[in-house]
Amino acid sequence: MRQIPHWIDGAAVAGTGPRRLPVWDPATGEAQAEIAAATAGEVRAAVLAARAAFPAWRAASLSRRAEVMFRFRELVDAHRKEIAGQLSAEHGKTTADALGEVARGLENAEFAAGAPYLLRGGYSEGASSGVDVYSIRQPLGVVAGITPFNFPAMVPMWMFCNALVCGNTFVLKPSEKDPSVSLLLADLLRRAGLPDGAFNVVQGDKEAVDTLIADPDVQALSFVGSTPVARSIYEAGTRAGKRVQALGGAKNHMVVLPDADIAAAADAAVSAGYGSAGERCMAVSVVVAVGAVADPLVDAIAERVHRIRVGAASDPDAEMGPLISREHRDRVAGYLTLADEDARIVVDGRRTTPTDADGFFLGPSLVDRVPTGSALYTDEIFGPVLSVVRVDTYDEALALVNGNEYGNGTAIFTRDGGVARRFQYDVLCGMVGINVPIPVPVAYYSFGGWKASLFGDLHMYGPEGIAFYTRTKVVTSRWPDPATSEVDLGFPKVR
Ligand code: NAD
Repeated sequence: MRQIPHWIDGAAVAGTGPRRLPVWDPATGEAQAEIAAATAGEVRAAVLAARAAFPAWRAASLSRRAEVMFRFRELVDAHRKEIAGQLSAEHGKTTADALGEVARGLENAEFAAGAPYLLRGGYSEGASSGVDVYSIRQPLGVVAGITPFNFPAMVPMWMFCNALVCGNTFVLKPSEKDPSVSLLLADLLRRAGLPDGAFNVVQGDKEAVDTLIADPDVQALSFVGSTPVARSIYEAGTRAGKRVQALGGAKNHMVVLPDADIAAAADAAVSAGYGSAGERCMAVSVVVAVGAVADPLVDAIAERVHRIRVGAASDPDAEMGPLISREHRDRVAGYLTLADEDARIVVDGRRTTPTDADGFFLGPSLVDRVPTGSALYTDEIFGPVLSVVRVDTYDEALALVNGNEYGNGTAIFTRDGGVARRFQYDVLCGMVGINVPIPVPVAYYSFGGWKASLFGDLHMYGPEGIAFYTRTKVVTSRWPDPATSEVDLGFPKVR
């Protein structure tokens, strides 16, 4: 079986651990490779490589660090197809979804190339006589990133582009389910001129994460994944004295008001509900249909869902790929069994799943009249199941969004600017779309939810990413006026 290595000190390193974890091809259901889960010694070796690389990388000038990011951006751009192919091979997403992921990741390298602008400090001249006060931003040291399976290129780039340009060195623990793309990115960073040891990858799972949390040389942890793990990493990491930002799961609501453009809302619900097989933390999971819009909206969504073509990334016409694993596919399908009792299944993905494929496929499902007490509504399903909850008023819709445990993203569809403005003011979510179903912020803003979707203070990437990966120092300096100096510097003497 092909083994996927670690990347330590600028080179691929074969894993030696006894615990082997399979990497599946979700389109065929076969194991295509394996990782040897990193041992504590291998994780420590990666941290030590990062620690050794830190002083020189920190001392590299801002323009040099920005230049590496700029070159990395160019290399990722030139290798879009190769990266996307790797994403599809292990994650299963369609080529269009994979190319979209690369494009959204690339924005972060672009942002980082301009980050020296944000690394400036402030300066107060003459705070007292001869006294100036100024602030500087300095990197933290070795920082670690722990990333989920659903965006194995983009989410690491959310983290390491900013971390590196700030002068930190990095250890990435990617998802064990689709680990290969991290090595492609590591190689592109090396080719961009990043010194050996500044970026490392350890393959593994919880054990490697626990080792990183316990390592005294790791100064900060960035995590993206499910809420229970985010919560536990936040608690363990902060207990160990580290800076932690931990982004968790989601249950994103799309509110559709009676005045909305139904065709546009239905298109949006379908692309946001089933894109990447619903395995996006910003996927729309619940459509909240307000008043009379419900019947025509459900009909319009159903008509579109019937047309979604499910298939492997090798099928150029496929619009939705398989799920990440057999267990996950079966878990998602299990929610439809619940729906049989609680709600009305309008489109049943179990019936449209390709029967000639052995991969982890499940057709798209639409479930109407979902009760808010049902697990269909309360759980993060993370698959191609879109629920519709019907309410009578805007206030009921808002109460539903605000009462939900998660607060990652939300969207409202309306033609009324005043209502949209009220919604952006009232809603308890970190990211809001107005006639935009997946409001993932561009790289010069920051990404993060509220409530159980984020543990920590600072959101990811953008300006808050720069804040997360630096600490500020304030210097108060006093210099005597040269005119008072005992040494003759050529200044007129004070009488
Ligand atoms: P996951 O929580 O199972 O795994 C995420 C990472 O944590 C992986 O690297 C995994 O190896 C590691 N991990 C798993 N269990 C662990 C444990 N007990 N202790 C320590 N580390 C552990 O998540 P996933 O299934 O890979 O990804 C899907 C989840 O990620 C969904 O809940 C989704 O909403 C969420 N997600 C959130 C965002 C966001 O920005 N908020 C973005 C993408 C994905």
